Amino acid sequence: MATLADVLEARTAEAAPELIERISRDRIRCYACGHECPIPEGAVGVCKVRFVRDGALHVPWGYIGGVQCDPIEKKPFFHAYPGALAYSFGMLGCDLHCSYCQNWVTSQALRDPAAVAPPVDATPGALVADATHLGARVVVSTYNEPLITAEWAVEIFKQARAVGLMTGFVSNGNATERVLQYIRPWIDLYKVDLKSFDDKHYRQLGGRIEPILRTIRRLHELGVWLEIVTLLIPGFNDAPDELERLAAFLASVSPDIPWHVTAFHKDYRMSDPENTTPEMLLHAAAIGKAAGLRYVYAGNIPGRVGDLENTRCHQCAALLVERYGYLVRSYQITADGRCPQCGTSIPGRWGKQFDGQITASPFLPGTRRLRTY
Ligand code: SF4
Repeated sequence: MATLADVLEARTAEAAPELIERISRDRIRCYACGHECPIPEGAVGVCKVRFVRDGALHVPWGYIGGVQCDPIEKKPFFHAYPGALAYSFGMLGCDLHCSYCQNWVTSQALRDPAAVAPPVDATPGALVADATHLGARVVVSTYNEPLITAEWAVEIFKQARAVGLMTGFVSNGNATERVLQYIRPWIDLYKVDLKSFDDKHYRQLGGRIEPILRTIRRLHELGVWLEIVTLLIPGFNDAPDELERLAAFLASVSPDIPWHVTAFHKDYRMSDPENTTPEMLLHAAAIGKAAGLRYVYAGNIPGRVGDLENTRCHQCAALLVERYGYLVRSYQITADGRCPQCGTSIPGRWGKQFDGQITASPFLPGTRRLRTY
């Protein structure tokens, strides 16, 4: 019987030339993520989905591990087209192995036998047609780490852009300069999951902090709309000193970068820490505001975090977007992206008007259509 690895091996294409370097006769370096694996003939990279065979680097292609229609607030993007539908797709695999991962069925499919997510064959055209048919405004690569499947995402994004859709990544941010340059022409929005501000913690998860901080700086410099999320895990990353350093770093890049602190709930293999309480989120958010961040949000505990689900003007504090969880209750930003009360320009990507919300709850679009367009 074919293993999941066998099934995926049949669904590959050659890596983009921009993302590889031949470093010896039988070894290719991959630059799709910050691991920069020097992969010998017959071996796989750390992510287990990119491998060298017959002198070429093969990368995932032609399938999805999951697809879902999400409110864009779920990604979360709060400063990009509130109320829009984000047509979200993922492949399989990840370059990190966070024990608390909330997408473990897709991200750890090749490491953990309990994580089973059979791939569904798909074409970029079918995915984009489905997104358009369902009224999506944005197509987002998410669920697994999109950097390690960047070629497939870029192919979909090219076709999405051609029909007027926006594009985005929901990523751990473990990028390289080469992969950022590769995706830059095709990407509008980028969420980085900044998991900690301690290199020791990142090494526990299988990464390093330095490439992630570099990615955040570069995305901002490159003009990609960027929002940051930190899943607050009691006892792991919630020390006040660590949060102060994290928030100070973000404010040093730009005080306009939205920072979402979200609540951990017991999941996957990390069941030791207690769930994050609303008080813990409020405390972390206060640290962010004290560091100078203008837009700090608290997520995953709707209705229990005071004003921290709403967007207020950083100048005059007028209520601009009122939310409950993923539901947008009111929207006041002007057609040119300003506060209607004081005229301050609000950082983000705004539509000319609020067109209502297609969904405040994720739903499955059904995958039978994906092969038939
Ligand atoms: S994507 Fe990252 S982990 Fe995977 S082969 Fe490339 S450098 Fe290695």
